[in-house]
Amino acid sequence: MNAFDYYRAVSLAEAFDLMRDKPNYTLLAGGTDLLVKINEKIISPNVVLDLSLIKDMRNIHLENGHFTLGALITHTQVMDSEVLQKFAPALVKASSMVGSPQIRNRGTLGGNICNASPAADAVPALLALGAEVQLMSEKKVRTVLLEDLFLGPGKTTIATGEILTRVLFKAQRPNQGSSFQKLGKRKALAISVVNAAVFIEIDSKTRTISEARIALGSVAPTPIRVKRAENLLLGKILSAELLKQVRLTVASEVKPIDDIRAKAEYRRDVAGELVERAVQEAWNKASFLG
Ligand SMILES: Cc1cc2nc3c(=O)[nH]c(=O)nc-3n(C[C@H](O)[C@H](O)[C@H](O)COP(=O)(O)OP(=O)(O)OC[C@H]3O[C@@H](n4cnc5c(N)ncnc54)[C@H](O)[C@@H]3O)c2cc1C
Repeated sequence: MNAFDYYRAVSLAEAFDLMRDKPNYTLLAGGTDLLVKINEKIISPNVVLDLSLIKDMRNIHLENGHFTLGALITHTQVMDSEVLQKFAPALVKASSMVGSPQIRNRGTLGGNICNASPAADAVPALLALGAEVQLMSEKKVRTVLLEDLFLGPGKTTIATGEILTRVLFKAQRPNQGSSFQKLGKRKALAISVVNAAVFIEIDSKTRTISEARIALGSVAPTPIRVKRAENLLLGKILSAELLKQVRLTVASEVKPIDDIRAKAEYRRDVAGELVERAVQEAWNKASFLG
């Protein structure tokens, strides 16, 4: 590991001051992705700016059916939150499947997003929930749809001088259901071979699907939504035939690659299978509650 200067900010104002003074900074939250990259000499930052003590970015807030999550909340905090368990169960399941207890205690939601791994577990769950993220710089705040944030593996539209401060999405209502599914090579400490998340809303009068979002990880250079499959669900009641069509559409839409974890063809099949399971589970939850 090469030596680097280390700074720790205790407020956003202090972080922006440091970012202005040390323009070649690299941000650090829990460090579970960044320190691995530094150790393996994938990156050699000169200046590391630790955000982890900024209290303002550690809250879980639910108001008028809208969640605002600080980017520094850890996967353990997500798992332990009663309001998230009740109103965002797919995200809770995704965070509960990240790494090991030690990784979940340090790894943050914001770090999972900003690291921009195609295999990040919390990201498909957040895409299925229709999440937006707040990006703050010294002079302005902008809010972008999470699905517009990713440009490729490790690449986002976050500009120099910006910090991802918050994650925003609506709390699930009784006629809505969600699900997260992951296939890894082991039960614990396994990066996803494929992961999938689904959100469904059922119209309480017609019992048909009135809103659907399907998101997948590890099947393209970025986490993706599969809008053709989502559109198939709209206006319909779930049936075995519809599930089959969704599964085939997902398998034909994704663009996985061969890598050390799995072959592309296998990933294609698994993507269809996981989405089928997730749609069924989301439907069961929405129709049970609705
Ligand atoms: C052994 C092991 C197992 C793992 N297993 C999984 C797994 O199963 N699933 C999974 O999804 N991930 C896994 N990870 C990856 C990692 O733990 C998660 O992605 C974690 O959420 C990263 O958060 P962090 O706070 O540690 O990020 P950091 O390492 O601190 O940061 C990651 C990147 O994001 C940037 N960044 C962080 N926060 C911000 C911010 N607020 N604004 C702007 N940029 C920011 C940093 O500059 C850095 O480039 C694993 C890692 C390890 C080491």
